[in-house]
Amino acid sequence: MVSELDRKIAQRIANSENILIASHVRPDADAVGSMLGLGIALLNAGKQVQMVLQDGAKGFEYLPKADLIVNTPSINADMIVVVDCSDPERVGDVLDAYPSPDLVVDHHKTNLQFGEFNVVEPEQVATSAILYDRIPLWGLAFDEEVAICLLSAIVGDTIGFRTAQVDSEVLRKSAALMDLGANLFEIYSEGLTLKPFQAIRYWGSGLQRVQCEDKLVWTSLTLADREEVGYPGNDDADLVNILSSVKEASIAVIFVEQSKNKVKISWRAKPGIDVSGIAFEFGGGGHAAAAGADIEGTLSDVQEKVIQKTKQLLTNINKR
Ligand code: 5GP
Ligand code: MN
Repeated sequence: MVSELDRKIAQRIANSENILIASHVRPDADAVGSMLGLGIALLNAGKQVQMVLQDGAKGFEYLPKADLIVNTPSINADMIVVVDCSDPERVGDVLDAYPSPDLVVDHHKTNLQFGEFNVVEPEQVATSAILYDRIPLWGLAFDEEVAICLLSAIVGDTIGFRTAQVDSEVLRKSAALMDLGANLFEIYSEGLTLKPFQAIRYWGSGLQRVQCEDKLVWTSLTLADREEVGYPGNDDADLVNILSSVKEASIAVIFVEQSKNKVKISWRAKPGIDVSGIAFEFGGGGHAAAAGADIEGTLSDVQEKVIQKTKQLLTNINKR
């Protein structure tokens, strides 16, 4: 049975001509894949669609219609959709022109429900897994391109079906998306396995400084590291996933220097530990197992503060 909420969303979509879709800064596979999956389904339904990411879709050129994604909005939209983003600030300046989204689709526990309609399901592994359920209920259809985008997003957020939330339902959805034409090997290679050589050298810089203490493993990546190895991004090149494989640690943290006074933090936790709260306290957000924040301050100050707080979290958990 179609819920009242889905019926209203389907109606809003049917009545809209120009639909703008936005997602978060520093987009990941779920941000880009969900945006494109929904965007292509809307295009196929005859809508005018503008997909906007403040930081663009760099690194996701392998996804169908990624070239349609722009950095700034330029249409007079009559419907605004935000996907995979828990708070309006994280959308960046795209929402300056459109401060009240009609629809928010997300799976972050820390979502602020900032849309008129909010489809927020923290139990889902990816925003695209929610879209897989809803696309038919909203009067839209799948095709091969939609399937590739949605499966890429699931593979990205589950790190290749490796996270604790992955269940048989996720595999069934993924199998259905493969039946629609999505090639899992290609998605896996492009999205997870293949990295530029500089990324591996960049890992090397971070791994030289890695520390593990009191069930916490952490390291940092500096502006100087990036310059030395010629790594073009301002992210961690997924090094945090390597830190997460340390058996002795319950939490992994990575500090990525953004400028002399700004640091991006990523937390990853083993099942049973929730790092979304600590990220939220530092002005960020995310999921129990994976969360992040951008913090003002020098690398060493931020590192000291965050490590102390995270160790405290682990001490409190051990006391329980
Ligand atoms: P990552 O550490 O890979 O950047 O992000 C882990 C998870 O936390 C992702 O789901 C991401 O969307 C969320 N996240 C990361 N940074 C922030 C942030 O600054 N604010 C919020 N609200 N969520 C974040
Ligand atoms: Mn996501």
